[in-house]
Amino acid sequence: MAQAGKGRLNYRCPMCFMRDLDIDMFYDKDKDEYYCIRCQYVGNEEDVLKRNEVVRMKYGSMMKRYKMEDF
Ligand SMILES: [Zn+2]
Repeated sequence: MAQAGKGRLNYRCPMCFMRDLDIDMFYDKDKDEYYCIRCQYVGNEEDVLKRNEVVRMKYGSMMKRYKMEDF
């Protein structure tokens, strides 16, 4: 496997997050892409952020339930 490790920032996988899984993705320096070891998702930073935003909006009302536990 090519050089890989954690990116500068840890992004959670948007595809796994939609299934209630909070998985940190790995960063491929050669391709400048993030990838998920669990669901095969691969995307650059822009795509990850975009997808995470969509998930957040889609599940925004659901997440409110967990606010009390988070703080
Ligand atoms: Zn994933």
